[in-house]
Amino acid sequence: MAGTILEPGQIEAAASKPPFINLPPSDLFALRSERLHRLADDHPLAAYLRLLADVCKAQQQVLDNPPPTAPLDERRTRESLRHDLPPLAADTLVRDDAWLPLLDAWLEAYVVPDNPAVAAAINQLREADSGQRKAWAVALVSGQYDSLPPALVPFLGATLQLAWSHRLLQLDLSAMREREDQTHCPCCGAPPMAGIIRHRAQLNGLRYLVCSLCACEWHYVRLKCSHCRSTKKLDYLHFEGSPQGVKAEVCPDCNGYLKQLYLELAPDGESLSADLATLDLDLLLAEQGYNRQAPNLLLAPGGDA
Ligand code: FE
Ligand code: FE
Repeated sequence: MAGTILEPGQIEAAASKPPFINLPPSDLFALRSERLHRLADDHPLAAYLRLLADVCKAQQQVLDNPPPTAPLDERRTRESLRHDLPPLAADTLVRDDAWLPLLDAWLEAYVVPDNPAVAAAINQLREADSGQRKAWAVALVSGQYDSLPPALVPFLGATLQLAWSHRLLQLDLSAMREREDQTHCPCCGAPPMAGIIRHRAQLNGLRYLVCSLCACEWHYVRLKCSHCRSTKKLDYLHFEGSPQGVKAEVCPDCNGYLKQLYLELAPDGESLSADLATLDLDLLLAEQGYNRQAPNLLLAPGGDA
């Protein structure tokens, strides 16, 4: 039988190859909730961060005790993986009914605060029929924020995150092949919310992009714009001494930026909460004429809480 004999160096390289995908932990929403609570202390947007901490807490409750949902179509999953297509393609699956029980379960779990604007948004979601809910969700996952009421974004966004992470954690991804230059999530096709620079062991110094929808992370080389793939003159803007460990990777080619969380600077950091706690950086970058490319589904563009 013919074969290639690996030299010792090649064997080590193959054995230590870092993973292409990191799945989120099964308590990801609890981690986000705790982190948002901690970041809220002495923060100018404390009430807003605490509100979102409770949104995440309800996400975790449903993830721990999910309602029955239609199983994934195994053939479709297999075919998607074989053709390097995202097996949980958001733009298609959001039109199915399968995620709606998670929306209802989240509405059950969420304790509505004494806040008339929030109560009105939750009522609007409760009363909408499945066609309306899906139409809003299609708009949200495709970034068409003008096509849904801004007040609904964090709550609808939370239920979509929950539904997609729930699916992701059920999926067997062993057949997924690594692809370079992947600017969208290989699992669900959504754009990244942020980057994260890992600092431990085998992953030390590697950058992963964090999916805005399903929360999986995929490897993406550093010093390269994750929007237009330019490698020229990227800049890293941040506030001196910012405790969140966040720097914005700014690209002069496409005029966009993506926030990066450096775990070396904030070892307890978590990307979604770090993003929401550094909206002052977004304001500064907007003033300088840069465009935010990354969605955070708990945040309506324009900054309305
Ligand atoms: Fe994803
Ligand atoms: Fe760019």
